[in-house]
Amino acid sequence: MIDLHTHSRFSDGTDSPTVLMAKARAAGITTLGITDHDTTAGWSEALESLPNNMELVLGSEISALTEDGISVHIVALLFDPQNSELNSLFSNTQESRVQRMHKMIENLNAAGFHITYEEVIAELREEGTLGRPHLADAMIKKGFFRSRDEAFASTLSNNSPYFVSHSAPTPARVVELIKAAGGVSIIAHPLASLRGRTLDLSSIEELITVGLDGVEVDHRDHSEAERKLLRDFLSQWRDGTKRSVGVFGSSDYHGNGKLNLLGENTTDPQEWEWLKEVAFSRSHERRAVQR
Ligand code: AMP
Ligand code: ZN
Ligand code: FE
Ligand code: FE
Repeated sequence: MIDLHTHSRFSDGTDSPTVLMAKARAAGITTLGITDHDTTAGWSEALESLPNNMELVLGSEISALTEDGISVHIVALLFDPQNSELNSLFSNTQESRVQRMHKMIENLNAAGFHITYEEVIAELREEGTLGRPHLADAMIKKGFFRSRDEAFASTLSNNSPYFVSHSAPTPARVVELIKAAGGVSIIAHPLASLRGRTLDLSSIEELITVGLDGVEVDHRDHSEAERKLLRDFLSQWRDGTKRSVGVFGSSDYHGNGKLNLLGENTTDPQEWEWLKEVAFSRSHERRAVQR
């Protein structure tokens, strides 16, 4: 079982990388991607505690924003963690996430939700990436909500008057940076409309033109019809066993921060083998790790 997109406490997941890998192993996962938002901070713990007989795929889910304000997530795998352009992208996004959190807290305070930045930051247990889920956790502690889901369905949604977005590069820029860093890119949950506006297929096609390697088709936030639409759309880059764009599935597990279960959606081994060869052709390194 191959699950290439999961989160740990180094962003808005609730398990440490060590616990995440142990749970993945118990769930029968043999290849696990750790893809915290806009950071590689969890990589070293993951490397230190990798269980036997598991293949670890180090990555990050990188935030992007289109010029007309659509939020897009790109799962980046097998890139060089020393790449300076990607590292400055991570630090810019982290900084903007802190500024945006201060603004959201101001908006909430003005509306009578009393919450402080210190209370929010206390919910981020590691030197990782701050996000709305930490704000949700702090507000749950104060009794405003019962769950992250409830918070995201109302006060913290993208459509709420308190929402502020953080800055991020365009999806095309992110795809190019990942490629230049020797990595591979998969657009995450591209049709997940519950989260806000999404790209249309022609914009996804443009990303493929600049080097997007794959599309996350099987994801909890896609309906059967959306999965079929994506598979049909991607068939133009696939002919028998040949392909220039991969089809992926993953859990997007967040510990107990979301209902998503490890391995609830997975990737076909042939797609994964193909993707590793693409990464190898770019970096001339075999970066997936096995103990
Ligand atoms: P942010 O990046 O700070 O804007 O927060 C968005 C993150 O919140 C996404 O990466 C999701 O994983 C997470 N998220 C979105 N909706 C929910 C939800 N209903 N419950 C828990 N987490 C959510
Ligand atoms: Zn998340
Ligand atoms: Fe995402
Ligand atoms: Fe994710």
